[in-house]
Amino acid sequence: MPLREVDKMPRCASCGILVPCQEIAKTHASVKVIVCSEKCFRIYRTYWYPKYGQKRAS
Ligand SMILES: [Zn+2]
Repeated sequence: MPLREVDKMPRCASCGILVPCQEIAKTHASVKVIVCSEKCFRIYRTYWYPKYGQKRAS
């Protein structure tokens, strides 16, 4: 089983799905963020980061 390839896929920082090839790399608050869409980046910025951003280890 090609699990290694799946492990290399980035996960959307907002919705958590595996993003096989069309990920969007953003930089927010000096942290590199991978998201699957502009919509997810907005959700990350307005929801995830204020709630969890400062506590995230990676
Ligand atoms: Zn997403």
